[in-house]
Amino acid sequence: MITIKKPFIEHEGEYASLKCEIIIQDPTSENARGGVIFFKVKNEYAPYLTYERSDAYIIGLLKYAMSNKHDIQCETPVSETLLFNLDTFFIDSLVSNSKNLYRTKIYADIASDVLPNDGAVGTGASMGIDSFHSIINHSKSRFPQHDITHLSFHNVGASYGSGSSVYKERLHNAEMFCKEYGYKLVVSDSNIQDVIWQDHYLTHHYTSGFAIFCLQKLWKVYYYASSSPYSEFTLKNNDLYAPGRYELLTVYAFSTDILKIYSEGATKNRLEKTHLVADSPLSYKYLNVCMIQGHNCGECEKCIRTMTMLDAIGSLNNYSSVFPVDKYYNNYDYYMGRIYYYHKRGLHAFDSIYPHFKDKITFKAKLNALKYTFNLIKSKFRK
Ligand SMILES: [Zn+2]
Repeated sequence: MITIKKPFIEHEGEYASLKCEIIIQDPTSENARGGVIFFKVKNEYAPYLTYERSDAYIIGLLKYAMSNKHDIQCETPVSETLLFNLDTFFIDSLVSNSKNLYRTKIYADIASDVLPNDGAVGTGASMGIDSFHSIINHSKSRFPQHDITHLSFHNVGASYGSGSSVYKERLHNAEMFCKEYGYKLVVSDSNIQDVIWQDHYLTHHYTSGFAIFCLQKLWKVYYYASSSPYSEFTLKNNDLYAPGRYELLTVYAFSTDILKIYSEGATKNRLEKTHLVADSPLSYKYLNVCMIQGHNCGECEKCIRTMTMLDAIGSLNNYSSVFPVDKYYNNYDYYMGRIYYYHKRGLHAFDSIYPHFKDKITFKAKLNALKYTFNLIKSKFRK
């Protein structure tokens, strides 16, 4: 059994934290001993911290509970629509299409009254292709009620902690973008992964949902940048794969009377998304896709993927302040070699790129791919 105690707000200088104690009876692992989960924002967002509901915690802990055979009980009520969604179709759909999930029961009072809501429209400020696609697609659109007002920079489990230089550099980039283009930036920090560690790759919808629901009184609409196209929707063996495959069902289930979450960008493939992003100058100074550093290293798989996509559509020269464009064109065979290497490895992400370059992959590029493979093997042996 997981007990979600009563959430409360604590003020600390210029910050406010939504806190809630989580008690886990018979924890199944050392990584999930329970404790107090905090979610910290600047004081200006304190009025939106939603202490009146257990909603955020149920979402944040649900996958853990189902994976580890726990029921959940809450001291504070759950929003009726959310509990209706989870209890009448979401949990059963996942359990009946999984190998190992437990049918978690949720014991909680139901709150049918509607919370106040500030009407903000948001999306994540990771400033990668997906994030920019969402920003560009939903700004100054023909649907004014759906235009983005705020970007959010949540720290709920991605690889780098809030003290790291990578985090600081990425946050600075998002701040500068918001300042230049007039968006508000909501920065938050949480220890949810320290209290209950979960594999971010398999649970990111749940932890992101947690962060969105902690500010349930702020968001009216939230765009979640999709990780899989709608056409790949499946529930089959959902416990073994990243939750992107059933994201449509998740965002539907995690929406309430005051908050609607959308899966954003799932109608396009990555190359099509990159096209839309590159057609707008918003991203030229701020695009940030790197897997390793706070700025684009130009060497990792995601940097190479994005640079080559921008090259394929003839837009790379617009990004010379965020990517090593001169180096790219001066060492073309090296980058073609990297495309060849990823293609040969069967990386799904390079499927739409390879056809654009296959005639430019020279013998020298293939040799470079071989050299790159050899160096990777060598560095693995050194470890
Ligand atoms: Zn990189």
